[in-house]
Amino acid sequence: MDLTSFIPLPLLSVLALPAVSSYSTSLNLLFFYMTWSTLLWSHGPLRVELFSTLAARVLFYVLPSIVLLLFDLSIPSLALAIKAHGKHALPARLGGARLARITFLSLLNVLLSVGAQLGIEYLLTQVFRMRSALRITASLPLPWGIATSILQALLIRGTLQYIIHRFLLHGKPSTYLPSIVRSSTPAALHTSYAHHKSLRAPFAILAHYDHPVPYLLHIFLPTYFSAVAIRMHVLTWTLYLALLSLEELLSHSGYEVSVLPSSILVAGMARRRDAHFLSGGKGNYAPWGMLDWVLGTSVKKEDLPKGVEEADDVGEDLVREGKKRRKSVKENGRKAIGRAKKMVEEEPVEEEENEDDDADTGAHDESDNDEDNDDEEDEAEEESEPEPEPEPEPEPVEEKKRTTRSQGRRNPPRKKS
Ligand SMILES: [Zn+2]
Repeated sequence: MDLTSFIPLPLLSVLALPAVSSYSTSLNLLFFYMTWSTLLWSHGPLRVELFSTLAARVLFYVLPSIVLLLFDLSIPSLALAIKAHGKHALPARLGGARLARITFLSLLNVLLSVGAQLGIEYLLTQVFRMRSALRITASLPLPWGIATSILQALLIRGTLQYIIHRFLLHGKPSTYLPSIVRSSTPAALHTSYAHHKSLRAPFAILAHYDHPVPYLLHIFLPTYFSAVAIRMHVLTWTLYLALLSLEELLSHSGYEVSVLPSSILVAGMARRRDAHFLSGGKGNYAPWGMLDWVLGTSVKKEDLPKGVEEADDVGEDLVREGKKRRKSVKENGRKAIGRAKKMVEEEPVEEEENEDDDADTGAHDESDNDEDNDDEEDEAEEESEPEPEPEPEPEPVEEKKRTTRSQGRRNPPRKKS
């Protein structure tokens, strides 16, 4: 491959583009083109594909997932604060040996997928003397081409992943098969590895944790085939794989939706992924959720574990933890008002009547219900007291609570005779 044969093309583009792009951008592009051509010329297409694939996986999945795992292990109190499912999402609960096995298998699967990709390329180019599955040329893909290629590949990957995950990995096994065969089908392996009872709250390492057979079918095949189907340029492939790695990392991180970078895309994917694991694989088969929504396989509320009777201990706790964390501000406010009411009801009658001197400092921000409640209390006082004094002004609950506490400290409540 002669390097000089590629020079005129970028030079032409530099001459043709100054109207739309700056001189420095063209120069950078030219520099990038020359570096890329040199790399391809000196290392050969197969090695370039291997390095770029490994770089995308290591930089955007392997290293960040290990960093997140170390963060979860070393500062559990901080991790607990941002985990969507509380303590059940902390990897430390699995124990050192189990965690090491999970991490090892997850990283082995990543290497396996890179190896499988290189194996296919080697067979095609070196054994069968065909063209490579991905486009590995010196010419650079244009921005519009990169965007359309990634969009097409995402659609193909989503469809393939949905079909394989739903029908092959979560399909009902045939009853005609002998039990020994049934227990070693991809579906049985996927259930016993990725859907193990102890792994219902995901963390980043679990994105690539599965038995190698279902992993290659479910993760590697849709990802690689979606790029091969449109014969993606190897540089676009590197970018595509980096984006997918980030998607897998964040959607399996197990962190609160508010912590994740995009509240629409990544957080939605993370919630759907959580629901897939929590329901034991009863829906949400594709990461983007469109096919699940169209074909009615989104995980429904009733598919999630509900109570003690229906859930195993982990699932039940997860749901309870999730519910606890999703309490709205409104509900919390209502509870606070309820507690305040309760304190007012417990207030001894005599003390209520002696509060007038403090009443003028209160903030009047309570609802009508509370005022009604105060009126009821006043009526009760009228009935119990032989000589009723003039009714005090309805007081805000907040003020009463404060007075009750301060008076409680000064004078312990006296019992009425
Ligand atoms: Zn599954």
